[in-house]
Amino acid sequence: MYNNFQKYLQDELQSIKDAGLYKNERVITSPQQAQIKVGDGDDVLNFCANNYLGLANNPELIAAAKEALDTHGYGMSSVRFICGTGDLHKKLEESIANFFGTEDTILYASCFDANGGVFEPLLDENDAIISDALNHASIIDGVRLCKAVRYRYANANMEELEECLKKAQSQRHRLIVTDGVFSMDGNVAPLDKIHALAEKYDAMVMVDESHSAGVVGHTGRGTTELYNLRGEIEILTGTLGKSFGGAVGGFTTGKKEIIAMLRQRSRPYLFSNSIPPMIAAAGIKMFEMMSATNKLQDKLHANTDYFVAAMKGAGFDIKPTQSAICAVMLYDAPLSQKFAARLQEEGIYVTGFYYPVVPKGQARIRVQVSAGHEKEHLDKCVAAFTKIGKELGVLK
Ligand SMILES: *Cc1c(COP(=O)(O)O)cnc(C)c1O
Repeated sequence: MYNNFQKYLQDELQSIKDAGLYKNERVITSPQQAQIKVGDGDDVLNFCANNYLGLANNPELIAAAKEALDTHGYGMSSVRFICGTGDLHKKLEESIANFFGTEDTILYASCFDANGGVFEPLLDENDAIISDALNHASIIDGVRLCKAVRYRYANANMEELEECLKKAQSQRHRLIVTDGVFSMDGNVAPLDKIHALAEKYDAMVMVDESHSAGVVGHTGRGTTELYNLRGEIEILTGTLGKSFGGAVGGFTTGKKEIIAMLRQRSRPYLFSNSIPPMIAAAGIKMFEMMSATNKLQDKLHANTDYFVAAMKGAGFDIKPTQSAICAVMLYDAPLSQKFAARLQEEGIYVTGFYYPVVPKGQARIRVQVSAGHEKEHLDKCVAAFTKIGKELGVLK
């Protein structure tokens, strides 16, 4: 009975390939870190992981995870409200709230789940969600699961946001939702302006800190630190899968009644397994390290400034960034693919992005800087970009 469906899938897959949009996965055979092994090739320098603080292979986190395997076992085999809540889960939730200066936190298996489970329990057809057009797919899906009236504004466009807020005055409650850092350009949401508009038009705010936590703000506390709004934003979501060790796990943190309601009604929380104790233990350790010293965030900021200045100095067209994401604009899709392939031959591992991931004519290579990079790594990257840039006629 599979024949017709098989044929249908084969045709669809072929058309994805014909359009040049088929995603092939390169296989990494070393731990995730600055220098990695891809397949059987030579080592390459990794500039496309979300490993912003270089913690993905950190010995202290590994030791904390190993210890928790001995003290707390391997898995929980339960959702939180039946018998899946451990002391480590509670402690990690507290660590996250302390880090962000919020009242309470709820853990999920991923930030995709956190975003998928945040809207529907809180808002209904009487309410409004006002969403940035470039928000992450998980926010878009979460909004789809909720009956609230939907409004959308162009990326970081405050005039459009204000128009939406005016229209949404007839709804009961209003929630503005935005990514903290937008992953393709590296720009930060103008949270000061968003917060001011929310005050003016009686709205709440939710920020997804996935790409900003650990990165943005003097001590890496995210957009609320950058804009001096700690404790002021009703809902923050984030991931343990990027800056915070890169393993797995997500969270929603914010006002305590909101978190309490999510524990009662959020479906990805109620109907999905708890994160393993070793992940919670490593997470606790990670937040301990962050409160003891700011050296990784300082190094990341210094690395990013150094890299962006060197790339601009070399003549590249770099999107203005306030994060560890550096978009090297090439504007041409095939060129972006060729450029990335040549860079890999030169030992620099990056990914070229083009339509539909970014707008048509906006093809680019996205470089992600990490505290795990040393100056010599950054210099090698700039030198390789410069060499290939000349070779492919991007630089004069
Ligand atoms: C990566 C990311 C997510 C998903 O996080 P996971 O924990 O990997 O599911 C959600 N939102 C944003 C903005 C992200 O960048």
